[in-house]
Amino acid sequence: MPNNIDSKCKLCRRAGEKLFLKGDRCMSPKCAMVRRPYAPGIHGHNPSRGGSEFGRQLSMKQKIKRLYGVMERQFRHHFDEVRKSPGITGDQLLSRLERRLDNVIYRLGFAVSRAQAKQLVSHKMFEVNGKRVNIPSFEVRVGDVIVLKQNKREKQFFKTQVEILQNKKDVPHWLALDLEKLTGKVLSMPARDDVGVRVDAQMVVEYYSK
Ligand code: SF4
Repeated sequence: MPNNIDSKCKLCRRAGEKLFLKGDRCMSPKCAMVRRPYAPGIHGHNPSRGGSEFGRQLSMKQKIKRLYGVMERQFRHHFDEVRKSPGITGDQLLSRLERRLDNVIYRLGFAVSRAQAKQLVSHKMFEVNGKRVNIPSFEVRVGDVIVLKQNKREKQFFKTQVEILQNKKDVPHWLALDLEKLTGKVLSMPARDDVGVRVDAQMVVEYYSK
């Protein structure tokens, strides 16, 4: 799968908001949105560059894609799938993106960024309901149990993460983390407000409806 080669911090600066793509650095004064909170490029300081309605819809789509680290083809696939299901398409899209396994690993705190979570899933570090899953886009459901595999627990990376998690338990309400067993459980479906970043998925619906 192709990777987005643009600088991660530039993606935040273009979105005008922190997208938390670089782990701990995002919470530090070194964050580019603290030091240079304007769009990259020579016109980055110009606040009048609001753009057309189409441009704003495109920007919103790009922002959500970048937040979850999803490429266009897969993002479109997520959209096409939720459009077939009942409910508000924009809300369903955000819920589906939140339920990607890589995002769940990040939300549980086993990884410092979604990009890192994607790598950990690809390297077969986790099981879902007792089965090995190495597909970052795997969609978890209510009741699913995610387990860090027994033979990976001694890795220094996870020991460090667990130490951090013992002091910082900010797991979303729709997930439960058991630090003793190193498992996570999906308690409920995530909602639009659980994204944690200002997004308007309805603009994505309008963008793809043209
Ligand atoms: Fe860079 Fe993270 Fe700050 Fe975004 S939030 S600008 S990725 S350091």
